[in-house]
Amino acid sequence: MQFISTRGQAPSASFTETLLMGLEPDGGLAVPASIPKLRADHCEEWRSLDYVELATAVIGLFATDIPEADLRGIVSTAYGADRFPTPVVPLKPLDDVAPGLALVGLSEGPTMAFKDLAMQFLGQAIPYVLAREGRVLNILGATSGDTGSAAEHAFRAQEGVSVFMLSPAGRMSNVQRAQMYSLADPNIHNIAVDGVFDDCQALVKALNNDAAFKAEHSLGAVNSINIGRIIAQAVYYVWAWLRASDGVGPEERGAFHVDVVVPSGNFGNIYAGHLARSMGLPIRRLILATNENNVLDELFTSGVYRPRSAAETLATSSPSMDISRASNLERFVWQLLGPEEFVSRWASLEESGSLDLTDRLRVMHEDYGFVSGTSTHKDRLAAIARVHAEAGVLIDPHTADGVTVALRHMEQGYPTLVMETALAAKFAETVEEALGGAPEPPISVQELLGKEQHIIEIPNSEDELRALITRSALHRD
Ligand SMILES: *Cc1c(COP(=O)(O)O)cnc(C)c1O
Repeated sequence: MQFISTRGQAPSASFTETLLMGLEPDGGLAVPASIPKLRADHCEEWRSLDYVELATAVIGLFATDIPEADLRGIVSTAYGADRFPTPVVPLKPLDDVAPGLALVGLSEGPTMAFKDLAMQFLGQAIPYVLAREGRVLNILGATSGDTGSAAEHAFRAQEGVSVFMLSPAGRMSNVQRAQMYSLADPNIHNIAVDGVFDDCQALVKALNNDAAFKAEHSLGAVNSINIGRIIAQAVYYVWAWLRASDGVGPEERGAFHVDVVVPSGNFGNIYAGHLARSMGLPIRRLILATNENNVLDELFTSGVYRPRSAAETLATSSPSMDISRASNLERFVWQLLGPEEFVSRWASLEESGSLDLTDRLRVMHEDYGFVSGTSTHKDRLAAIARVHAEAGVLIDPHTADGVTVALRHMEQGYPTLVMETALAAKFAETVEEALGGAPEPPISVQELLGKEQHIIEIPNSEDELRALITRSALHRD
């Protein structure tokens, strides 16, 4: 399996080459040169597999340059019992809220958010490739909470990799801070910047634009455009369909379709669902939920994509979705327009600030099954309260955006699976606001909050960051 760039100006590359790449050399994103198709019997063959075996099979369709035994080793460590409970991804029925509604439990990993599922795979796959090639990697990133902690927990104590993660000092939740700052592994560097998230991002960008510095210190990223993350995420769509159809008779399974609801920001999670659907997984509709930063809902209702600036992006109570320029959308638009038309029309987005796709709205709805909706702070609180009252289940604010939009779009006869993108304990303040009282934090969270924290504080200064990386980066010996 080869991967090509959306911009069409880079040579094709294998899975392992693409894994270490980040952006393609021409500035585009990697996409599979062809989409593997699930055979009708694939899903039945896969029904008896556990999560590790299923992930080996699905990822193996793309990662054809990793021998199967090695891939199984990577995946069994990534989703091992010391990192995830069994099953790795449980389905949690919410029939008491609405018949056919269920959560897909993506957040049972070390940092209580779905990003663990993709990042733990990278945390094993990247060191494997580096070792094979005698290379090292210094991961430089900026986080407002979820991505950084997932990356640190995935790469802690791994050979050949160190992590330099910038975070805005004092601007994350208690739990997010504790998850990151309590790590004492020597290859994890938590850098608390005196500034906001945009300052952290600007510092990372400045160093990334310095090609000489980047090469000298083997700097790289594991952000949401990494193709390895997308492919690892496609696995749980297959898993969720298998588990939802377990109770259906073998004759009816062929016609068994589900709707999947995805709380979205950078369009990575739902793009993985779109990929699984494009492979032939029987998903009827992909229902995209946004918060008040509803650029993507605007796209799927009006056909016009108009990204917004950081200044126009609201700080909401589902903060991991406060995104107004969805980095993975490029892959989707590439498929929608085809390689030739994509290049000119995408260029016009960069010039004019918007992209008119009304001529493809029918394809998005009818062929790709996309539907969308927006949830607000008030909706979020109401969904948290309702799911708690009617099903006795605590959900987090992002999942609540999914439940809100699910309840608006559900249709009888179609099981509706909401991707649970984080656990309530990670965003306790909003849950408390919704329920009018604080739920007792789980013991694991209480212990976490009591741990000693380790950070390096720096001012908002590029020179200080350069000096720090020069001092501490891993180098190939
Ligand atoms: C990252 C994140 C999202 C958004 O996912 P995308 O893949 O960026 O669309 C939603 N909810 C939570 C809790 C997240 O951490």
